[in-house]
Amino acid sequence: MIEVRNSDTLLEVRGLHTYFYTYEGVVKAVNSVSYRLNRGEITGLVGESGSGKSVTAQSIIRLVKAPGKVVEGEVWLDGQDLMSCSEAEMQTIRGRKISMIFQEPRAALNPLFTVGDQISRVIQLREGCSRSVADSHAVEMMRAVEIADPDRRANAYPHELSGGMCQRVMVAMALSANPLLLIADEPTTGLDVTVQAQVLDLIRLRVKSAGSACLFITHDLGVVAELCERVIVMYAGRVVEQGPVAEIFSSPRHPYTQGLIASTLRVDIDKPISTIPGTVPDAVNLPSGCTFHPRCPFAEDLCQQEEPQMVEAGKNHTTRCHIVSGRIEREMLEEAWTLETA
Ligand code: SF4
Repeated sequence: MIEVRNSDTLLEVRGLHTYFYTYEGVVKAVNSVSYRLNRGEITGLVGESGSGKSVTAQSIIRLVKAPGKVVEGEVWLDGQDLMSCSEAEMQTIRGRKISMIFQEPRAALNPLFTVGDQISRVIQLREGCSRSVADSHAVEMMRAVEIADPDRRANAYPHELSGGMCQRVMVAMALSANPLLLIADEPTTGLDVTVQAQVLDLIRLRVKSAGSACLFITHDLGVVAELCERVIVMYAGRVVEQGPVAEIFSSPRHPYTQGLIASTLRVDIDKPISTIPGTVPDAVNLPSGCTFHPRCPFAEDLCQQEEPQMVEAGKNHTTRCHIVSGRIEREMLEEAWTLETA
């Protein structure tokens, strides 16, 4: 059973399927994904590379590149069905209601305009203010993301700035839009630890004060523990576990989540870190049954034969595993994840 609908829900994704039609076959990058984001909350979206995190985000804002396509599913933002909007409506929604911080900031910024100009246009669009007022707000936003000498740098073009600096410009631009929904895809990649902490603080502050929602895509569980209220774990295009961060970090129920947490270095416990054996499967030829079975230390015959359904694992906590559903009776021993010491 899926979690009870919360009246604070801002975004609801229902049964999303995004496939890529390649010469090798159909890549099911996002496969029947459903989740909700609440107002005023930051939700972490985690999983290894190739688990479908970024494609999920691109699907929400309808920016999946060919040969990819959203083939099924609904995405509701604040009561509006994004899948039935025209492209012109989506362009307005992307500018005013949804902001995204991309992994590749240089590719996302317009090379023909100065960075100050690009931030200023976002502010003008939102506030309807004069150009000079928007320009000075843009400089303030650049200062807020720790860009030194923002008055001078506002006149720089993207190619004149370092990758880390462009990343901060992207963050400033995304937050300037004051969006209902902020999608941040690895937003702190390439930033040093101090700036990373400041950017995370800024995102937290904006989301809380504006009552917006944030989908925070990362492979860094430490950041999720520090920043997010909820977490969604994806594996091979599917959501395998989702729920409150505190509960999932203290008692993860899906073996993949357990493996991810066991492979994260923690300073609060003196324990060797381990690795999850194997790699993410080839998305064209996914394993039968539970797609995690080739890597799961608890797999049994049923796991190869039948795909597990999402079941409740706690309050607002769901997971997809035959052991949790009771179809298989066995214990998940924590030691299974310390056998392969890194
Ligand atoms: Fe492991 Fe089986 Fe659970 Fe999949 S269903 S996670 S293979 S125990």
